[in-house]
Amino acid sequence: MLLSLIVPCFNEEEALPPFYEELNRVLETIPSYDAEILFIDDGSKDKTLSILKDFADKDERVRYISFSRNFGKESAMYAGFCNATGDYVAVMDADMQDPPSLLPEMLSIIESGEYDSVATRRATRKGEPRLRSAFARLFYKIMRKISKTDVVDGARDFRLMRREMVDAIVSMCEYNRFSKGIFGWIGFKTYWLAYENVERVAGKTKWNFWSLFRYSIEGIVNFSEAPLNIASYGGIALTFASVIAILFVFFRAIFFGGAVAGWPSTVCIILFIGGVQLFCMGIIGKYIAKIYSETKHRPHYIVAQTNKENVVKK
Ligand code: UDP
Ligand code: MG
Repeated sequence: MLLSLIVPCFNEEEALPPFYEELNRVLETIPSYDAEILFIDDGSKDKTLSILKDFADKDERVRYISFSRNFGKESAMYAGFCNATGDYVAVMDADMQDPPSLLPEMLSIIESGEYDSVATRRATRKGEPRLRSAFARLFYKIMRKISKTDVVDGARDFRLMRREMVDAIVSMCEYNRFSKGIFGWIGFKTYWLAYENVERVAGKTKWNFWSLFRYSIEGIVNFSEAPLNIASYGGIALTFASVIAILFVFFRAIFFGGAVAGWPSTVCIILFIGGVQLFCMGIIGKYIAKIYSETKHRPHYIVAQTNKENVVKK
């Protein structure tokens, strides 16, 4: 059996050596599997690529694919899925927040035949800023309500999958990718393994509050039409209210004469309606922007260097 490990790396020069050492230690404990370690260098600006080349020189299981610039973790994972050849495929971060030591357990669960994938989630959000945790929880709550796909709270991208599931992911070639949604959308039986949050071994996280916030908006827009529905239902409700207001003003003018006073309230109403309209146009614009980027059919990633033969470009 061949096990493919996909490791997206962006400026991970400090984390890679300890990660590689730990991974080797774990792979020695499961000698019955052949391994293929697929490092995706996502346009790193530090020594990540030269470290990967060093690994590849000494270890024939190591493949690296280096992008021409930073395309983001989603693109890096997609490149990994497109190029992984194993019967089982796992994605894991290079910073050991996805502990390689969980792999043997994940393999034994998948080998039992009952599940198509073993996914991981954090049991707690310990060590994370309070505000971020609160927003993350809110995001998952909203996401579960408004989209048909099952997105689990605290889910990580760390997963082990069977070949069939990987083929399904590769077939989802949309440009705007949100992997947590894609994993849920394609279905298959998934076992959820919970573990305590681990701090990153070295280096710094690439996410801050605002990048996470933007990412969550992406997730919602990519996997739900609820914001569009809110815009149109809100529009219907306001139209209905305005009809009642018009009737009221009309009959009051007929029976009690013209009303001169009241321009402040008129201004308030105009401002309110204007605001609501702009907000709704913004929502619609967001979806149009997605359609625009999908129709351009640009590549998901551009490979600059690799030691892999017949690298798949998508
Ligand atoms: N990563 C990537 N491209 C990016 C950002 C991150 O390939 O543009 C990789 C990064 O090298 C790491 C993984 O994605 O292996 C997770 O990133 P990070 O640890 O910064 O995220 P966090 O664990 O804090 O959510
Ligand atoms: Mg991390």
